[in-house]
Amino acid sequence: MDYLPVFLRLDGQSVLIVGGGQVALRKADSLLRAGARVKVVAPHLHPELEERAARGEIAHVAREFSETLLGDAVAVVAATDQRAINEAVAAAARSARVPVNAVDDRELSSFIFPAIIDRSPIVVAVGSSGHSPVLATRVRAQIEALLPARLGALARFLGAQREVVRRRLSHFARRRFWERLVDGPVATQVLSGDEASAQRTLAREYLREQLTTARGANRAALGEVYLIGAGPGDPDLLTLRALQLLGQADVILYDRLVSSEVLERARRDAERIFVGKDQGESSQQERIHALMVQLAREGKRVARLKGGDPFIFGRGGEEIEFLSAHGIPYVVVPGITAALGAAAAAALPLTHRRLARSVTFVSGHTDDGALPDWRFFANPHHTVVFYMGVAQLPTIVARLRAAGAAAAHPVAIIERATLPEQRILRGVLGNIIQLATERQIEPPALLIVGDVAAFEATDLDLAICAGAVA
Ligand code: SAH
Repeated sequence: MDYLPVFLRLDGQSVLIVGGGQVALRKADSLLRAGARVKVVAPHLHPELEERAARGEIAHVAREFSETLLGDAVAVVAATDQRAINEAVAAAARSARVPVNAVDDRELSSFIFPAIIDRSPIVVAVGSSGHSPVLATRVRAQIEALLPARLGALARFLGAQREVVRRRLSHFARRRFWERLVDGPVATQVLSGDEASAQRTLAREYLREQLTTARGANRAALGEVYLIGAGPGDPDLLTLRALQLLGQADVILYDRLVSSEVLERARRDAERIFVGKDQGESSQQERIHALMVQLAREGKRVARLKGGDPFIFGRGGEEIEFLSAHGIPYVVVPGITAALGAAAAAALPLTHRRLARSVTFVSGHTDDGALPDWRFFANPHHTVVFYMGVAQLPTIVARLRAAGAAAAHPVAIIERATLPEQRILRGVLGNIIQLATERQIEPPALLIVGDVAAFEATDLDLAICAGAVA
């Protein structure tokens, strides 16, 4: 290790920056965020540095550097584009035994600025010991994606409990308790922005701790359920939160529509349980409910992974009703619903100022519940997306026609959207049944009905070529 990473307390301390350009600006801003008193030595300032000087956030000394300017600085940054000046600054700092950083210059620097992930009070610093700042920046971006945005909020939430925990729990019990909070539903709820639920769960954790300590036994964690939308299939369409939670779940209950590529993103050693069902199998839904509750009661972190979004034709509502009724903590993570995945993959905008101002997602199971108003769907300026509609295609076409839709009313079918096997079929109400039969379209597929289904973005290059030829 060439450098020891440390976190320096700069609050109220003076730091000198020599140079007034873009680089100096970036360093000044980092230092200001850490509360340093920043003094910039440079004949001229970058306009943004000038603004900061005018607002009194930094002090400006409009001169060339000289040793006497070091003053009471606890660190110095040489940020000019002239090596001779940077050398002089570094030499002066060294003889005064003040740490110095010369920008992009390993030899002259006694300390370096790492790439930072700031989730204060949690801060992650990545350095390459001056070998490759660009690589360090890449590594930082990769770590950034793994860390929840509300990590800082979690640290503050837990920090606020320290005193209470110290008073209530023995030294021995504390560590286990903190680990349970960090690994369990309290953390999940804070990280998903629901501090009110987290407070209630915390109260339950205290109670459990008391009860189990009293019995001196079985201190199993409080389990929880993550209801996660897995998106339409392409694993790159998972949300960051879905990835974070999939990385820590102990058990995964997944549906038929969850692609194997998505499952591969889950924790390697997580137990995977297939709970797919054929339409209308309500006994399977009851089994899922029972399984979620049972596993969570064993203290497990259960990922309930559903295709698309859990709340669009996903029975996610019923699942959280059941979890609530059984006192199991849960969070819901939205996913990209199939309609949005398919629209993007097929480059079909679901609304468009010229073509459609509204859109409906409807279940193709036309026998489900109350019948929607088909006259509204028959308007080509309204987009209708039918989920689960392949088997019902003839009925859907007949209903739309009976409600007044023309034979030329555009329809698109997108099969296995966003997956490598995706197929896109375009037609009109008059021929779509025949086309779908010929091409042997199978579920999962979506029907997009309305003028947008005939949409094609004009290829500008082709248009220009055509114009040139004409
Ligand atoms: N909760 C899911 C929908 C479940 S209903 C979501 O939000 O997407 C199941 C129906 O979704 C399928 O019958 C099909 O119509 C549609 N569907 C799901 N994934 C799809 C995909 N990759 N391509 C096309 N349609 C899909």
